[in-house]
Amino acid sequence: MARPVGMPGKMRSADEIVPIKMLWSAAGDIIMRGMANETDVNKVIRQHGQMEQFFTGGFAVRGKAPTAGKISSGAITDKQAKLDSIAEEVRKCCKCGLGKSRTNAVPGEGSPDARIVFVGEGPGADEDAQGRPFVGRAGQLLDKIINAMRLKRGDVYICNILKCRPPENRDPRPDEVANCLPYLQEQLEIIEPEIIVALGAHAARTLLDNTKSIGELRGRFHEYYPSLGKAPIKLMATYHPAYLLRSYSPENRRRVWEDMKKVLGELNLPIPEK
Ligand code: URA
Repeated sequence: MARPVGMPGKMRSADEIVPIKMLWSAAGDIIMRGMANETDVNKVIRQHGQMEQFFTGGFAVRGKAPTAGKISSGAITDKQAKLDSIAEEVRKCCKCGLGKSRTNAVPGEGSPDARIVFVGEGPGADEDAQGRPFVGRAGQLLDKIINAMRLKRGDVYICNILKCRPPENRDPRPDEVANCLPYLQEQLEIIEPEIIVALGAHAARTLLDNTKSIGELRGRFHEYYPSLGKAPIKLMATYHPAYLLRSYSPENRRRVWEDMKKVLGELNLPIPEK
């Protein structure tokens, strides 16, 4: 029998993704008949177990960075080893055509014990050249955002839906996402962050399995379902830094900062004042 998505053990394959969506949907249908809202549905599914000068021209670092990681322990090393093993698999992966066109795969990087995981769409030219996520212009802006939250890049985990660069930075294709998503699901399963920040529409839609616009999705918490029997992880959708670079208006900067303040508040981390 196919192992449900997110169950510990071997890497999930693309054909295992569809049944879980159907399962959640079927569970939702049944439960929604008797329950009024989404929270109740999640609760029942869980119980059953089956089924700076912030944006005034930049994101400034101010003050001392608070601790954003969870408790330090030997388990971190174990988590790092598991993440390293996924990274190895990603670097060898040739499940889709991007495996042939890439220079380097970009598995992701950061703290294995991160409370926040930032998820982008896919590597661009700089990331493809270096094998590291968010190291180009959009990455520099993401660094500023993280620093404005009084965090360091090493406090969080940064990765993408796609681990290889689509040629000419075109949009990810559904088969590419289906092949690649299990890597991200596994990374999230290992890190167990408290919050996922989905950067841009592609990341948000993929993780939330819907087709809404980023304008509709951003600014509030959603739930990402790691696997059956595990509590959903809060997901904040916000604008992609590349979009922000293209539309660097005070209004858009304020919107992203509002989103990040919600993330900090949810984690009980200090919210820097302007
Ligand atoms: N854009 C992304 O979505 N991810 C990166 O790693 C870089 C740019």
